[in-house]
Amino acid sequence: MKPSVITNVVEHDLCIGCGLCAALCPAGTLAMQWNRYGEYSPIEVSPCTTECGLCLKTCPFADHEENEDTIGRELYGGVPGIQHRSETGYYLATYVGYSERHRPTSASGGMATWLLETLLTQGVVEHVVCVAPTGGPDKLFAFCVFDTAEDVRTGAGSAYYPVEMSGVIRHILDVPGRYAITGLPCFLKAIRLAQQRNKKLRERIVVTVGLTCGQLKSRHFTDYIAALAGVQGEVTAVRYRGKSPDQPASNFYFSFTSTDGEERRIFWNEGIAEAWTNRWFTPNACNYCDDVFAECADVTCMDAWLPEFSKDSRGTSLVLVRSPLIQEVIKRGEGICLDPIAVEEVVQSQAGVVAIKRRHLAYQLDLDRMKEKKVPEKRVKPERAKNPFLRQEVVVKERMRVASRDLWINGEQDRAHLRDVMQPDLRWLATGRQISKIIAFPVGILRYIQRKVQSN
Ligand SMILES: Cc1cc2nc3c(=O)[nH]c(=O)nc-3n(C[C@H](O)[C@H](O)[C@H](O)COP(=O)(O)OP(=O)(O)OC[C@H]3O[C@@H](n4cnc5c(N)ncnc54)[C@H](O)[C@@H]3O)c2cc1C
Repeated sequence: MKPSVITNVVEHDLCIGCGLCAALCPAGTLAMQWNRYGEYSPIEVSPCTTECGLCLKTCPFADHEENEDTIGRELYGGVPGIQHRSETGYYLATYVGYSERHRPTSASGGMATWLLETLLTQGVVEHVVCVAPTGGPDKLFAFCVFDTAEDVRTGAGSAYYPVEMSGVIRHILDVPGRYAITGLPCFLKAIRLAQQRNKKLRERIVVTVGLTCGQLKSRHFTDYIAALAGVQGEVTAVRYRGKSPDQPASNFYFSFTSTDGEERRIFWNEGIAEAWTNRWFTPNACNYCDDVFAECADVTCMDAWLPEFSKDSRGTSLVLVRSPLIQEVIKRGEGICLDPIAVEEVVQSQAGVVAIKRRHLAYQLDLDRMKEKKVPEKRVKPERAKNPFLRQEVVVKERMRVASRDLWINGEQDRAHLRDVMQPDLRWLATGRQISKIIAFPVGILRYIQRKVQSN
């Protein structure tokens, strides 16, 4: 069989569902569909008649020569004043702050929406491609093309829900103009790979706004949390980043609107955190991501998960700039409160995600190598973790991830049963964490004494 994204990626459960392959297939062979895990993936709607291999060449999880380092170097390596760190990729400047106007409806400090709106009103772009609610239960969010600031604001907030780009990429190919697009790291990598091969996309997508990403979630994640919140009917709308004045930014809430007419809320610490941090309903492809800061984006926005900002319920953004164009827009910025911040603090704000996409990934790749499993070539190299707790954590979280995906589709859409099945692993993790803390304390003291002795 001819190698394609179906044989090399989808059949190995490595598809993230970005939709670039379906948009670019010259024979129109591929279409994006929900799979049984509540994720998007392409299906073949007609036999593949070309030898082009474009689907593989633009897939962020297929093997090719380009990676985030080579793409980043090509785009930003020659920018005057640019710097590089292994965790962030290239960066020109880093900021912390917010847009007072956008903050209330945005995920964190509203910097992403402010930027998209400003690019539009200043005429840098004519169209903004971002994610917005659809109002329909079968697809709660979708990528949309907007031409007014008012419409762009309807997309404010984070969509922890699958979205795919095949429709908007076809639109960009059909309708000339200058576009800005938002995306998660792997989605923007796909766009960059496509731009290398498609002149129209290269000329028309003039700004990419990345979001730092820990993991994607399937639509079953939303179904599970809705059930946890007590939603009875079908969910018709979700807001994932509700802000409560009496809570820190980190304890945000999801609010659900459903056909039963009731609006229900659930806070991060009431069950969302458990499902999120233990990687329930996470696609397998996310296990093979080594890009935290959307290294192929002109600018990346994220939450300021730092003690001095995360207490403020209104939310604060960190912004990492790579393109001089964005740097100019920000310098001229009106209506924003933005201060420079050290890149070390930006990295620190995402320490947990960096650990997963470096140390956990290295150990996952080591396990896969032993099982001779097909996985994509990564910048992180396979390595057996020295820390036994980390080794167990990777194994246990993967077991829970697989179990959550399987349980939900096997007719057991029962939140209580799912939590029961997870209990032994959750207990194991909690005990392991306690033991690590107990061991870490004397080890820390010993290291401190050692350093003191050496310095004297
Ligand atoms: C799946 C996912 C995982 C994330 N993980 C992390 C993390 O680990 N750490 C962290 O600091 N931040 C993470 N973020 C980013 C964070 O949630 C905020 O989006 C970010 O802080 C920007 O906030 P803001 O107030 O500046 O953006 P807003 O003003 O709220 O604007 C966000 C923009 O992004 C667009 N958007 C929303 N969801 C998506 C999506 N799924 N795909 C493409 N575009 C989208 C919206 O349409 C809007 O234009 C994640 C986001 C997502 C969607």
